Amino acid sequence: MASAKTYGNLIGGKFVPAKSGKTFENLSPADTSDVVGVFASSDDADVDAAVKAAAKAYETWRLVPAPKRAEILYRTGELLVKRKEEFARDMTREMGKVLSETRGDVQEAIDTAYYMAGEGRRLFGQTTPSELQNKFAMSVRMPVGVCGMIAPWNFPMAIPSWKLFPALVCGNTCVIKPAEDTPLSTFHLVEMLMEAGLPDGVVNIVTGFGPEAGAPLVEHPKVRAISFTGSSEVGRIVGQKAAGNFKPCSLEMGGKNAMIVLDDANLDLALDGAVWGAFGTSGQRCTATSRVIVDKRVAAEFTARIVERAKKLRVGNGLEENIEMGPQINKQQIETSTRYVKVAQDEGAALLQGGVALAEGVHSKGHFFAPTIFGKVQAKMRIAQEEVFGPVLSVIECDGVEDAIRIANGIEYGLSTALYSRDVNKAFRAIRDLEAGITYVNAPTIGAEVHLPFGGVKQTGNGHREGGTGALDFYTTWKSVYIDYSDKLQRAQIDNAK
Ligand code: ADP
Repeated sequence: MASAKTYGNLIGGKFVPAKSGKTFENLSPADTSDVVGVFASSDDADVDAAVKAAAKAYETWRLVPAPKRAEILYRTGELLVKRKEEFARDMTREMGKVLSETRGDVQEAIDTAYYMAGEGRRLFGQTTPSELQNKFAMSVRMPVGVCGMIAPWNFPMAIPSWKLFPALVCGNTCVIKPAEDTPLSTFHLVEMLMEAGLPDGVVNIVTGFGPEAGAPLVEHPKVRAISFTGSSEVGRIVGQKAAGNFKPCSLEMGGKNAMIVLDDANLDLALDGAVWGAFGTSGQRCTATSRVIVDKRVAAEFTARIVERAKKLRVGNGLEENIEMGPQINKQQIETSTRYVKVAQDEGAALLQGGVALAEGVHSKGHFFAPTIFGKVQAKMRIAQEEVFGPVLSVIECDGVEDAIRIANGIEYGLSTALYSRDVNKAFRAIRDLEAGITYVNAPTIGAEVHLPFGGVKQTGNGHREGGTGALDFYTTWKSVYIDYSDKLQRAQIDNAK
């Protein structure tokens, strides 16, 4: 195998090694002998250099007209279309999910590029009457400044695009720290931005580990806003640090997403949805279906059939076209899945399928875990409450729609939910009553589109949204503008109150 390429940080348009000279290897989770690349292991000195480069670039980037900034995004989308297959293959190599999914991940960046390019000619504010004569009033969106971004490994290109593209069209400059398991896809994305004409220093990449490279980005005084996607545990640390400096901070964190299957559901459809929702991306999506709440009248049939489906899933290296489920990202995730299998069994849940790491034959080279299903799960068991982030599904029985919604809501998280039913009345009640940022009807819990708000309630997030116009709200700040053309002093609340 050819020796792996070495990547420096991208600072002010140049690739530079970490000041300490330290590096780390990016290994393929399907075959840990495959070194995808060698990356800079950065610390606060590198972060400081990147933030300074971004602050300098901000002086001019903020003055580039938004439609011109948008043209760069549009061209980036076109370049990504051309390179889609190549980037998808590299992403499968570094992240593990199957090729059809990594093609989808690149496509999500393309969709975001085109959507946010359109915003360059909108970025609407408001005009509104003044309470005084001969006075004009409006509100305009202003950029925030240097934005710090911390990304996870499960959507290595899509999530960085959700953060970078809206920030850029709004006139901000960026420092992004990709996840240590999947830095390559961020380089591919940002290289396309630069090829499309992005000036040096507008986006900077600092690679490395969370406490060394992520934490200093959150704390840097010149970083005006932080966008984080990852675990609730780390999100809490990031949010607290940002709060100390009154920094706007968007936190997108865990989920324990439920799919409700009522007794009038199309069971074939619900099964397809559950298999895709639970085992797509090996369950490593924040929106993954990790609980199926199924009506007791159809629970036996549903459970037997999903176990059959899970048994037949082809698990292996996602670069092979016939593979349906790839590996988990790393050893720690295998340990987490293994630990939760034990937790569930100790609590009295019935292991119906899987429950073990796969380490024989083709699986011996990587981090594979069998598609796993638990039956006899009670709503309050830990396996039904805590995020596993692996291919582990719990089946919980319910009695009708109200019981199902109560169970679905009885968790700390609130990201995605799904309801399978042919009864429109029940569907609308679920839409109203499910405590979540996303509700699907007759579709699984995964599959967000980029022009709708993405995010959740409760422990999943802190109220911000990615995607849709919510992203613009995060990456801009409002300025209210009053223009008095009366040629005299007019006092609001005083002179018009006569
Ligand atoms: P995941 O479960 O996706 O690995 P993490 O929350 O562990 O989620 O990591 C998400 C991102 O947060 C990664 O880029 C990681 O390096 C970064 N990170 C981890 N710890 C910290 C920290 N203390 N401060 C800032 N970023 C961190």
